[in-house]
Amino acid sequence: MNTIYFDNNATTRVADEVYEEMQPYFCRQYGNPSSMHTFGGQVGLQVREARERVARLLGCDPGEIIFASCGTESDSTAIHGTLEALPHRRKIITTRVEHPAVLAVCRDLESHGYTVVELGVDKLGRLDLSELEHQLDDETALVTIMSANNETGVIFPIEQIAQMVTSRGIVFHTDAVQVVGKIPLNLSKSPINLLSLSGHKLHAPKGVGVLYVKKGTRLAPFLLGGHQESGRRAGTENVPGIVGLGKACELALQHLDEENTRVKHLRDRLEERILRTCPDSRVNGDTESRLPNTTNISFEYVEGEAILLLLDRYGICASSGSACTSGSLEPSHVLRAMGVPFTAAHGSIRFSLSRYNTEEEVDFTIEKMPEIIRRLRELSPFVQSRAR
Ligand code: PLP
Repeated sequence: MNTIYFDNNATTRVADEVYEEMQPYFCRQYGNPSSMHTFGGQVGLQVREARERVARLLGCDPGEIIFASCGTESDSTAIHGTLEALPHRRKIITTRVEHPAVLAVCRDLESHGYTVVELGVDKLGRLDLSELEHQLDDETALVTIMSANNETGVIFPIEQIAQMVTSRGIVFHTDAVQVVGKIPLNLSKSPINLLSLSGHKLHAPKGVGVLYVKKGTRLAPFLLGGHQESGRRAGTENVPGIVGLGKACELALQHLDEENTRVKHLRDRLEERILRTCPDSRVNGDTESRLPNTTNISFEYVEGEAILLLLDRYGICASSGSACTSGSLEPSHVLRAMGVPFTAAHGSIRFSLSRYNTEEEVDFTIEKMPEIIRRLRELSPFVQSRAR
């Protein structure tokens, strides 16, 4: 059975070209890029080349790129590094729908005496910018708001938000882990101070990420030790990962148009057919402002986990909007923040596509979904009690 992989917001396959380009840096060119000898120095040149490739995708200066181990580290560095650089400001503004890589850090800081404001969203997952404006004050050190949501794909108006925040002299960070490689960016023309990305979301390997730091932004280092990354992030570089990420960024730039045409077309086709053939289903999130590869659909009267299991029997990989917490299924914090009713949140499935998906895979899934939903509803106590 072939795998049909529609879980690209969780992780992506490494592109063949990326894998090939990484190969020499394990067993042949394994020098330390900080070494004085030529053997290490040549590796240092490859790290420099990768930095330039990442900068090209982001539209920034290579000196504004710090390599890290993952999106989570980049987020933590942005938040902790800003607070340490601005010790007299004790307030952070974020949203209720952030990834735990941001939310858990903010909540931990709250337990250590910081003031944390979590902005709410409406039923389409949109922010109220007037609420944000109202919260900005001289106490605020940092506003951290994601560029697009990993569960629903809803895109926030990040440029407008960054403008509003930075014009008040407040640092603005965005977790762009789900956006980089899907939407064009030009950070040289943007007021965004700090931006996180993660390699494994854009066909680079796991274990490598980036924090973009706009020139002039005050940021204390998070990891202390050696002088790597110009003293901004200690630790010997993950050279194969960095080289792979550089190649992945180069490919992402070449495929940006495809992401917004072919991949979007596949997503729209999948979504539209499922909504048409599965009664009591609906999309979660603002379809007017959404990543081109993501759809989050709720099916009333069925459990998302049960749908996933039946999809899995056909080799189809997706993910659900519930998480197992203390032995019971909890609807996701994102869908809860949007006020999605409990039954709909429980029955939600996220399909996230990539340029490796095909029309045949989409059509196979479209064919199977109504049958899966019908079978599960036949077993559902909700549906049976409605029929009585
Ligand atoms: N931020 C967002 C929006 C994500 O979707 C993820 C991963 O799912 C992360 C941060 C964490 O990235 P990483 O897995 O590289 O730590």
